[in-house]
Amino acid sequence: MGGLVSAGVSDNVINAHGVLIVGAGLAGLFAALRHKGPVTLLAAASLGSGASSAWAQGGIAAALGTDDSPELHALDTDAAGAGIVDKKIARLIAGEAAARIDDLARLGIPFDRDAKGHFVLGREAAHSRHRIVRVTGDRAGAEIMTALVKAVKNEPRIRVIEGLIAFELALEAGRVTGVYAHRIADKASPVLIRADATIFALGGVGGLFEVTTNPPQARGQGLGMAARAGALIADPEFVQFHPTAIAVGRDPAPLATEALRGEGAILVNDRGERFMAAVHKDAERAPRDVVARAIFRELRAGRKAFLDARQAIGASFPDAFPTVFAYCKAEGIDPRTDLIPVAAAAHYHMGGIAVNENARTSLEGLWAIGECASTGAHGANRLASNSLLEALVFGARAASDVASAASRKTHAALRGAPIADTPPSAYAVATLRKTMTVKVGLERNEADLATALAAITRLERAGAGDPHLRNMTAAAALIAAAALERTESRGGHFRTDFPAANPAFARRTFLTLDDARQTADTAVRSISAKAEAQAAQ
Ligand SMILES: Cc1cc2nc3c(=O)[nH]c(=O)nc-3n(C[C@H](O)[C@H](O)[C@H](O)COP(=O)(O)OP(=O)(O)OC[C@H]3O[C@@H](n4cnc5c(N)ncnc54)[C@H](O)[C@@H]3O)c2cc1C
Repeated sequence: MGGLVSAGVSDNVINAHGVLIVGAGLAGLFAALRHKGPVTLLAAASLGSGASSAWAQGGIAAALGTDDSPELHALDTDAAGAGIVDKKIARLIAGEAAARIDDLARLGIPFDRDAKGHFVLGREAAHSRHRIVRVTGDRAGAEIMTALVKAVKNEPRIRVIEGLIAFELALEAGRVTGVYAHRIADKASPVLIRADATIFALGGVGGLFEVTTNPPQARGQGLGMAARAGALIADPEFVQFHPTAIAVGRDPAPLATEALRGEGAILVNDRGERFMAAVHKDAERAPRDVVARAIFRELRAGRKAFLDARQAIGASFPDAFPTVFAYCKAEGIDPRTDLIPVAAAAHYHMGGIAVNENARTSLEGLWAIGECASTGAHGANRLASNSLLEALVFGARAASDVASAASRKTHAALRGAPIADTPPSAYAVATLRKTMTVKVGLERNEADLATALAAITRLERAGAGDPHLRNMTAAAALIAAAALERTESRGGHFRTDFPAANPAFARRTFLTLDDARQTADTAVRSISAKAEAQAAQ
């Protein structure tokens, strides 16, 4: 066992001999390194590519300052989450942060430190202390992923299979027994990867939206696969939109990290007005959802929005924020002297596959970690830089917890394997992404959400032969249905028809795909009834 296997595997059944991790971002790589026994790690492309983790710019939140504590970190996490954070989980991730940063430091990650060797801690919106651990300014994700990929490749206990794309869970008597996947260029020949314990580390849903900061691989595949197998899903309506994607017409949109505003960069419109001052007492350091909606409204009013870092950062920009500087330069923008055009973009999913404190899902044999999971740590709005932390904490927890289950032997066979024979139509994917941005985006209302559910249902029926599209439509339906049912505004979820928070909704959402479909059916029937009534008038 051990080593790198390309997707040229000739067998159509691969035995993981215990634990299978699907997805090789930070959560998947870290869990593989932390597990004590043999692990098979499935990566869709080459190890480390196609992961949001590699694009992270801010860093990892951890209460390491002398004026800080895990209790304060948990309190900030709770406050950002707008009343529905699971406080126990918030304390758990804040409490385990220092140990996980220590794990990374031992892997040789070159965290930014001062002359005495102490971490240089950055500050981001809604954090009451400086507590963001960074690497070479804004290169946290890239540096951490490079080190983890190297460590995984050097670990003989970990068998890496590259070039297989998972599309469906394998189930026996309700228990997860691995996944079906196909080689990138051969959708018609499914491969069953058999496992006693399967850990999903498949990332987020940003790519379901037309404007996103996420890589194209982040299209809700993990959420969709688990939901289609009957898993309980939590808080899917809560999508975080990043206020400052660089608006240069690229898909995905490059990100201008929040740390720029943390360092004093301001937001102005094309009239030169600093519009955030009138919106929130913390101006540019207001919670993400508030800033994102303010930018959205500027653009909707026909104005433009810009990040102005000229005064606050100026000449130190290239050294302090090399990634953002490179993105800007590639578009002919010099942020030392020019304004950076920005727009809000789908960025992070607070919801996901519901898991307990050990990352166990409601399906026996399936764990979920990282962005595809919903632990309750983020509530309605994630505190900046808490997601890498959550991926580490729950990656480690899943790695220990699976040990108990991995001894249960699985004998799943490739009988009646599903086939991914119809490629997702580019038109269907584009229609889905547009629908999600226009109808299920930063500002939502009943009519738009019902229309979106009707459109998602039509796309699902039309694309029934393609499991990838079915995973995407399942994830989209869950987001839209939960958004329709939550008739209030809270955190990342804003309803123009219910603009205030309603204490009766101060709880997390838990639902299955069947529940979401029922909501969709009711919405579709109500649209038809209204249309008939109008026609009869
Ligand atoms: C631009 C950007 C900047 C960010 N900055 C920060 C930050 O500073 N701090 C912070 O805490 N968070 C940040 N985030 C969020 C954070 O990066 C993510 O939440 C986190 O990296 C998710 O890690 P993950 O391992 O769960 O998923 P990912 O890193 O996205 O990895 C998912 C993996 O699953 C694979 N995959 C997907 N579908 C399939 C399939 N069907 N079959 C097989 N493999 C598949 C992907 O290829 C990938 O390898 C940022 C996100 C973005 C997009």
